[in-house]
Amino acid sequence: MTARRTLLAAAAGAGLLPGPAVASPPAETPRHALSKLLDGNERWVQGRPRHRDPADDRRRRTAGGQNPFAVIFSCIDSRVPPEIVFDQDLGDLFVVRTAGQVIDPLIAGSIEYGPAHGTPLVMVLGHTGCGAVKATIESFADGKLPPGNIAAVVHALAPAYFAARPQPSSPLGEQILAVVRAQVTRTVVQLRADPLLTNALVVGAVYDLRSGQVSRIA
Ligand SMILES: [Zn+2]
Repeated sequence: MTARRTLLAAAAGAGLLPGPAVASPPAETPRHALSKLLDGNERWVQGRPRHRDPADDRRRRTAGGQNPFAVIFSCIDSRVPPEIVFDQDLGDLFVVRTAGQVIDPLIAGSIEYGPAHGTPLVMVLGHTGCGAVKATIESFADGKLPPGNIAAVVHALAPAYFAARPQPSSPLGEQILAVVRAQVTRTVVQLRADPLLTNALVVGAVYDLRSGQVSRIA
């Protein structure tokens, strides 16, 4: 056994890694997975969530293995929890969240984990009114970086800021949305070039805090 395999086996044994995905016929296609996500979002928008079995039944069904049909890479914002806004349940989604959905190798590794185990869909999800993007715009406006490691988030969002070039005369919400869209699009391009994601459909979308609607943009 290689050192890497030994390390992975040890991590899995210690419960540090998600359990192995369990094959469930028929295999999910990327398009079907996307439909399931968007149908779930429609239920959320309409305020008609799916009926849930009792919690202990749901835990029992998933405790022995998992087979999530999508990876959602989204922001930490408390108003955009993927399981809720897509009306999904235990075991349905891998969720990776960082401020402004900024990416680095550690985060990319977490995103790759799902498709490496058969998950057919990756969605990069930005949202309106993003605080991390707002902080980035304000940093460029006043020339001051936020404290501590939050500055690293602003640095990571700088390429999207320069791609969008938001007009200071525009309403702040519009400036934020322009940078969010650029950040989502750039991340989708990056992930589509990832060799471990070639079998997955990678899409980008933006969530509207007011309507609850997820709109695909890439
Ligand atoms: Zn955000």
